[in-house]
Amino acid sequence: MRIVLLGPPGSGKGTQSEFLANRYNIPQISIGKILRNIIQKKLYFSTSIKKFMESGELVPDHLVIDIINNYICQYNYYEKFVLDGFPRTLYQALTMKNKGIIVDVVVELVLSDASVIERIVGRRTHISSGRIYHIKFNPPKDDNYDDYTGEKLIIREDDQEDIAFKRLESYRKNTLPVIKYYSQEAQAGNLHYFSINGGCKISDIHRKLIKIIDACN
Ligand code: AMP
Repeated sequence: MRIVLLGPPGSGKGTQSEFLANRYNIPQISIGKILRNIIQKKLYFSTSIKKFMESGELVPDHLVIDIINNYICQYNYYEKFVLDGFPRTLYQALTMKNKGIIVDVVVELVLSDASVIERIVGRRTHISSGRIYHIKFNPPKDDNYDDYTGEKLIIREDDQEDIAFKRLESYRKNTLPVIKYYSQEAQAGNLHYFSINGGCKISDIHRKLIKIIDACN
């Protein structure tokens, strides 16, 4: 099963892809996490990647495509994955197809602009694991500390309000065409496409995802 999760920043792609990965025992490929890991370890073009991410812009296509392609190739993940945060541009989607990386199911998490901003600015991240919390919707047990390691949580640079608006704008400009493309692919019978209200409770979204994936399996 090859699953792509789409949705604006803060729509829960990270949380839901982690859930799917655990439930169906498939690798989770979260490009945002991979990029943050590259920055932390000062690997591959990290200075340039950091600059793009912190300003709320997309990292250039050729870099993210290279990273994803190497990742899938290195671990031989062609047969099963849940991709979170990729593709985010039409070019990325088309390149993935041209490289023979097949997608079976696309799930879009839909969220209003106001909810996107509320979700992003309240988000707290445990940087080394990538675990995410929300001060209102999914708070850590101990204020500002990770549930598992007890380490301090941070507010990501790109989760500041002004940057959050830029990311939303980028989503409209770059990723809505990807949604249109996958809807057309579904109409042509090449994959399954579903949209879910990303504003529902996390457990309700889990239930909907299970129903979708089990029906497509
Ligand atoms: P995320 O954690 O998925 O919200 O991604 C955080 C940031 O990483 C984005 O705002 C972009 O700067 C960068 N990024 C993530 N995925 C992509 C992608 N597919 N293409 C380009 N940049 C990306």
